[in-house]
Amino acid sequence: MKHLEEYRDKRQVRYLIDKIRDKISTSWNIMEICGGQTHSLLKNGLIEILPEGIIMIHGPGCPVCVTPAMMIDKAIALALNTEVILCSFGDMLRVPGNEKSLLKAKAEGADVRMVYSPLDALAIARKNPEKHIVFFAVGFETTAPANALSVIQAKKLDLDNFSILSSHVLVPPAMAAILRDEETHVQGFLAAGHVCSVMGTDEYEPVAREFNVPIVVTGFEPVDMLNGIYQCISMLENGKTGLMNQYSRVVRSEGNIQAKKIISEVFEVGTREWRGIGEIPQSGLVIRKEYDRFNAEKRFTINKIPMNEDNACMAGLILKGIKKPHQCPYFRNRCTPENPMGAPMVSSEGACAAYYHYGYESAT
Ligand code: SF4
Repeated sequence: MKHLEEYRDKRQVRYLIDKIRDKISTSWNIMEICGGQTHSLLKNGLIEILPEGIIMIHGPGCPVCVTPAMMIDKAIALALNTEVILCSFGDMLRVPGNEKSLLKAKAEGADVRMVYSPLDALAIARKNPEKHIVFFAVGFETTAPANALSVIQAKKLDLDNFSILSSHVLVPPAMAAILRDEETHVQGFLAAGHVCSVMGTDEYEPVAREFNVPIVVTGFEPVDMLNGIYQCISMLENGKTGLMNQYSRVVRSEGNIQAKKIISEVFEVGTREWRGIGEIPQSGLVIRKEYDRFNAEKRFTINKIPMNEDNACMAGLILKGIKKPHQCPYFRNRCTPENPMGAPMVSSEGACAAYYHYGYESAT
């Protein structure tokens, strides 16, 4: 792989900005689907130097942000069981559920532990045979292989005290849901290179065909982002739709076959709830029946938790790109990273956190 500096080169950045400026004849709305790409646009100041007429709309690709409050409530209910140790990534601990966060539940006595990988949770299970360890498995296609692997490993070790609470979601169905929503005005997409490095690009072609949009697979460095934007507006200006892979140094059309095999061994596609968006059919991964013994929702009885999202936080509008973070009345006053009212202000990939950290009040 080439050195990263090549993809941060200032002369290349200026060259691409000029190319974009020369290309556009009108205004275009482009959604970068991934929260990591939103952060790259803001952190590198690209949003400020993009020519007028390029409107970047921030998408729902932040795993913590799209996990519904109802799933956090389920994780809290499990953590409050004295037989359970609930393990989770750090970001998830501070995201508010309907009443509290996992961190608050921990302060109230629940055994909640921060881990860096599901394999850490597996190690805790081996060390604590008298307890049941639940790993809160959230994320898009990128985290699914490791989470599936932890279940396969637990089966291999015949561990009876390990399960996962799964809230996995998939990118292409979310893109289709955004395009079906009459309030959104997305005309082209930048697809996330890391997701495509796992899943390949085949699932994006039907979306591009059905909705007549260009989709360009891009990376995260400034040169990658600008190349992706240039390819996308070139297609729009020329009236073309379809899929283009700008990130071919990492992404193959077939994806990572071994990782996909591991995912489909444990998970199958099913309906999922998204925070602020609601239920999207066939938009997530659910644990296969054969692995019921590693499914926390099957191992424990969790009282039905309603899908009440806090109406004060407009996470749904942010995640669909209908509103920008600074348009929320609570941004930077009642809602800050220290006192978040919603998930997009907590997560390192959340759009509200990005606007807060990089000092944006009116980015377009
Ligand atoms: S600023 Fe806070 S309250 Fe407003 S949408 Fe973002 S997370 Fe929700």
